[in-house]
Amino acid sequence: LGKRITLSSEKNEIYDLALTINKALDRIEYGYKQQQQFINNASHELRTPITVISGYVDLLDRWGKNDPNTLSEGIEAIKSETNYMRQLIERLLFFARSNSGTLSEHFVMTDSADLLQEVYNASSLISEHPAIILEKNESALIYAEPGSVKQMLRIFIDNAVKYTPAEGFIYLSCEIKENKVYFKVRDTGIGIPKKDLHRVFERFYRVDSSRTKETGGSGLGLSIAKYIAKSNRAKLQLESTLHKGTTVIAIFPIYTENEAIV
Ligand code: ADP
Repeated sequence: LGKRITLSSEKNEIYDLALTINKALDRIEYGYKQQQQFINNASHELRTPITVISGYVDLLDRWGKNDPNTLSEGIEAIKSETNYMRQLIERLLFFARSNSGTLSEHFVMTDSADLLQEVYNASSLISEHPAIILEKNESALIYAEPGSVKQMLRIFIDNAVKYTPAEGFIYLSCEIKENKVYFKVRDTGIGIPKKDLHRVFERFYRVDSSRTKETGGSGLGLSIAKYIAKSNRAKLQLESTLHKGTTVIAIFPIYTENEAIV
C-alpha cells in the first residue's frame, strides 16, 4: 500500500489516471491507519473495566457464596461496570464513525462529588498496592458528559497505578476554588522527566517503555483524556517531579443557574 505510481513528465490521460489511482491509494491508506488507531484505542480503554469486573468475580468466588452483603455488592458493581463498558463501546464506535464527533447530546448537570465517589468506588479494586485514597471530595455542579469525565479520571488513575511502586500512594480529590472544580489525581510514583512533560498528551507518545515492568501501555490514554477534556470545556494541568510523583488536574467551570450553555 505504501507504493505509488511514478508520474510521467507528460500530462496526458495516463498521467491523469495515475494521479487518480495515487489519490485513491492515499485515501485507502488513511482509512486503514484510522482503523488501526481505533483498535488500539478500544483495547486500551476496555482493559480497565475488565480489570474491575474480574476483581469482583474473584471476590464473589471467594466470599460471595456465604456472605449476602458481598454478593449484592459484587453484583451491583459488575452491573455498573458492564453498563460502563457498553457506554464505552458505543462511544468508541461513535469516534470511529466520525472524526469530528462531539459528545454534546449527553451533557447534563453533574455533581462533582457524586462523580468522583463513583470513580473511587470502582477504582478500589483496580489496585490495593499502591493504595488509592479519597483525600477530599467537595461538591459543586458542573455541566458535563459524566460518562466521558469518569473515563478521563480512570485514565489518570490507571496511569498512576502503572507508574507508582506498590508501596506508594494515589490520592484522589475534588476541590472547589474560585468558581472552578479541580479534580486531582496525585501519585508518589516515578514521575515524568521535564523534557517529556509537553509530549505525553500526544497520540502514541510513551516516555520510555523500559522504565516500568508494564508493557501494556500504548501511549493513547492521555491523548484520549485530552480529547475528553476539550469536549467538556475542561483544562488539564500536569505537574511532575522525577522520582517523586505526578499530579494530573482537570479543571471545570462551576455551573451557575444564571448561565445558559449552548
Ligand atoms: P500509556 O498507555 O503508555 O500509559 P498515556 O498516554 O496514558 O499512555 O501516557 C503517556 C506516557 O506518559 C506514559 O507512557 C508514561 O511514560 C507517562 N505517564 C503518564 N502518566 C504518568 C504517571 N502518573 N507517572 C509517570 N509517568 C506517567
